[in-house]
Amino acid sequence: MTTKPEEEYFARLEAEKKRKIAEAKRTALATVELIQLKAAHWMHCPKCGLELEEIVYRGVRIDKCFHCGGVYLDNGELEKLSGGESHFWDSILSLFKS
Ligand SMILES: [Zn+2]
Repeated sequence: MTTKPEEEYFARLEAEKKRKIAEAKRTALATVELIQLKAAHWMHCPKCGLELEEIVYRGVRIDKCFHCGGVYLDNGELEKLSGGESHFWDSILSLFKS
């Protein structure tokens, strides 16, 4: 026969085990949701939802929406494009005029 402190000890162990299982399920679900979100939105314009086209400008792959004219840069691409160029914005604007 178990004593009350023993029952509480095993109940705490069981609860901790179930909490860890629930946490692992939550993490797995979050990962699946992230994968599904990425698959649903990958290379789609965040403004209008249509597909983005990749164009290469000065060696940088730029994502452009030819429907609404949006231009999207990945992390670090703006820095690569600007790279000390004095007329950077004039150059970019002339390229993406619709
Ligand atoms: Zn768009």
